[in-house]
Amino acid sequence: MSVTARMTQSNQPIFRFAPSPNGELHLGHAFSALLTQKLARQEGAKLLLRLEDIDTVRCTPENIQQMLDDLTWLGFDWDEDPIYQSTNFDAYQHALDQLRLMDLVYPCICSRNDIKQNATGEKDPDGAPLYPGTCRDMDDETRFRLFDEGKPFAWRLDMQKAIEKTGPLTWQEFDEDLGEVETIAADPLQWGDVILARKYTPTSYHLSVVVDDAAQGVTHITRGKDLYFATAVHRVLQKLLKLPEPQYLHHGLILDDEGKKLSKSKKSISLAALKKRGWTADQIRDQLDLD
Ligand code: GLU
Repeated sequence: MSVTARMTQSNQPIFRFAPSPNGELHLGHAFSALLTQKLARQEGAKLLLRLEDIDTVRCTPENIQQMLDDLTWLGFDWDEDPIYQSTNFDAYQHALDQLRLMDLVYPCICSRNDIKQNATGEKDPDGAPLYPGTCRDMDDETRFRLFDEGKPFAWRLDMQKAIEKTGPLTWQEFDEDLGEVETIAADPLQWGDVILARKYTPTSYHLSVVVDDAAQGVTHITRGKDLYFATAVHRVLQKLLKLPEPQYLHHGLILDDEGKKLSKSKKSISLAALKKRGWTADQIRDQLDLD
């Protein structure tokens, strides 16, 4: 599918739920899915499901099937066949090529360890050490040697150069408490030179999400507050790739007893496990206070 393949044909809004099937869904996903569905229905919108399975090792067919089963059990019903990002690598490559032609990306050979060693102490909004820019000014000879030798490297976006091209950016955020849309100033520099593609996963969350939201004609993005600051990176990519600007709503997160965000990596209790314990989908809805 090409980046501009499917713009909105009518004025019907388009919402989407875009989980990553790299583990089991938990209550946090249930909340996000059902809130998105509720808002889509209120708006008379189309509701799409996209499986963000670019990590083809962790996104196993079993995980994908489990996710579809859980969503169906929950009563999440989407319009149209789901999109699988793993079938869309050509579109991400095309987008990356466009950024290469604009001379806005560069190859980076730094390992996690290299980055730690050269770290300045600055952190990105997720708390990871900010990339110190080690490979940004690599000379052409070294770069070409790198390509010739087929060594693994990642493509990074030169954020400073990118924002010089885009100028200051904002996004439109629906504030649930105020009940109105606010304009938020994007601060992409706080992420530094983000990775857009790697050798073994030739794309990234940031690149594929903007490509697919545009290709699917998504007008409204509802997702957790953990992705609030990432929106700044998405706005830069949308502007550079001439993609339309959706409206955002970043909802509160479901927290565990210690006040921490639920997560697959912490093995938060899954929907499948709750179902096995005899929970019904209605009880989950009640628990999430969504009706
Ligand atoms: N796939 C992402 C996740 O599961 C969400 C992507 C998005 O909604 O933008 O965290």
